[in-house]
Amino acid sequence: MNIDLEQIVKPLLKWFQKEKRDLPWRKTNDSYRIWISEIMLQQTRVEAVKEYYKRFLDELPTLKELAMVEEDQLLKLWQGLGYYSRARNLHKCAKILIEQGKTELPRDYEKLKKLPGIGPYAAASIGSIAYQLKTPAIDGNVLRVMTRIHEDSRDIMKQKVREEYFLKLSKIMPNNTRDFTESLMELGALICLPNGFPLCQSCPLSFICQSYKNQTMLQYPVKKKIEKRKREEKTILILEYKDKIAIQKRPDNGLLASLYEFESINEKLSLEELKKYLNQKKIKIMNIKQLKEAKHIFSHLEWHMVGYHIICKILPEKEYLWVTKEELETKYSLPTAIMIYAKDLKK
Ligand code: SF4
Repeated sequence: MNIDLEQIVKPLLKWFQKEKRDLPWRKTNDSYRIWISEIMLQQTRVEAVKEYYKRFLDELPTLKELAMVEEDQLLKLWQGLGYYSRARNLHKCAKILIEQGKTELPRDYEKLKKLPGIGPYAAASIGSIAYQLKTPAIDGNVLRVMTRIHEDSRDIMKQKVREEYFLKLSKIMPNNTRDFTESLMELGALICLPNGFPLCQSCPLSFICQSYKNQTMLQYPVKKKIEKRKREEKTILILEYKDKIAIQKRPDNGLLASLYEFESINEKLSLEELKKYLNQKKIKIMNIKQLKEAKHIFSHLEWHMVGYHIICKILPEKEYLWVTKEELETKYSLPTAIMIYAKDLKK
């Protein structure tokens, strides 16, 4: 359906002025801060990001400080947000820019897109929010609004669909690029909701929306089914010896790279099976306590875990990094997936 999108600009901006949420990253024009917020907001809820955003910028207020920080400290600041590759890419990116003698992110969409961790969406957001570039940010929220307005039943995972909306929206983008980008995102987050019925009665774009007119809102957007997640079972072993806990660093590549973890076994063991296993590994036990079962969902993978807290009688043969509970909490970054067991240690 061909729609004159120009008509959405004024009502959308007017609505945004009245309804926008008061968010910390909306109070700054600093591209560094806007970049940090955009990366944090990917795959994380706004409410959860607020606290991390403040803490991160209190510690690392400039691009230079981010470039200089130790990776372990950076991952600690990120702990709990998940998707740690985002933090590593921020780090890489800051180092590249500082090495090039820059003090801020490039003011160019194509150059932004070439930096680690900055894809077309983040480049467009940073460009339009911080630098007044006419680069509309096309994310799931915006695609939902657009496909509903147009009754567009094409698969939104297709690059071509995204590119087409990028082009359409860049043509109608007003000079106030920041408000335009944020207003579309805000409409998707507050009104044109992803699950269940959108709040069309309160929508400033209902006058033009084809799916509202035909009451077909729930048929859009069309998204190809994601492949089923792989399931893995694990037994997490918290080994304790003389009030210290055994941890080890994960490899520098792959899932949860460079984070610290407890010893683990790639299957779920019962208490009896575990005792046999420990015996084979010559780990002498003073006490053993079964912890609750837990599940963690990654985008492509599910971990189904059972945990055991084991007080060792003698130092196990395998080399570990032995740390106090306080160090574990303040110095080493553990993946969110196993935090539930680390928290258990506090009790
Ligand atoms: S009218 Fe309803 S479906 Fe259409 S854009 Fe607004 S909230 Fe979304």
